[in-house]
Amino acid sequence: MRRWLIPLTSILLTTTSVSVAAQSLEARLIGNAAIEISDGTTTLMTDFPYESGAFGYLPYPPETLTSRPGSICLITHSHADHFAPALVERVGCRVLAAPSVQSLVPAAQRLQWDGRRFEADGLRIEAIPTAHMEGHNSYRVEWHHRVFYFTGDTESTVELLEQRELDVLFITPWLADRMGDRWEEVARRLVIYHRAPGQSVASKPGWEIPDLGDVIDLTPGDSGQ
Ligand SMILES: [Zn+2]
Repeated sequence: MRRWLIPLTSILLTTTSVSVAAQSLEARLIGNAAIEISDGTTTLMTDFPYESGAFGYLPYPPETLTSRPGSICLITHSHADHFAPALVERVGCRVLAAPSVQSLVPAAQRLQWDGRRFEADGLRIEAIPTAHMEGHNSYRVEWHHRVFYFTGDTESTVELLEQRELDVLFITPWLADRMGDRWEEVARRLVIYHRAPGQSVASKPGWEIPDLGDVIDLTPGDSGQ
């Protein structure tokens, strides 16, 4: 019996790893609210490039500003700790943001969209206007059958509480505090982003708190536990 069981187990493991590898998504915390996500073909960056160290928030190494041709920079708002228009050319991305934020870069560096919904190459992005400053958006992103949500700097819980079935919620510590346990009504995983340097966040049940440069596995089926 043992002889039969071992090959069968090997086949099952092989099949599983092949299907997972086909849809692999990996995320990395660059700093502040900057998350870089790649499926091996397309790269999506949230709130990057920003001004390293702006307002005392997290700096990043200069080599982070390497060119990623064909990438998308998804920007929540124009505060310098989230967006530095002058650095977009070095990153080589095209910018997706509210029209007033997109207007800060030359037309060639903007992605064309209606300001609410964007869809291309299996990537679906919905802008959710939220309070913080003029032109501030939170974003709901669907990619490879996963749903992500990026709060940006908003302090409003209203729009977030209307969400359901989010796979990963990227959220600031202060908004996570305001949400309390209610985040579990809207998301399966909660990842804290936009910490100040040296700021320790008192972890609460289920919170994931990555450090600078940490890789966050977003492979479908990953529970994050
Ligand atoms: Zn801000």
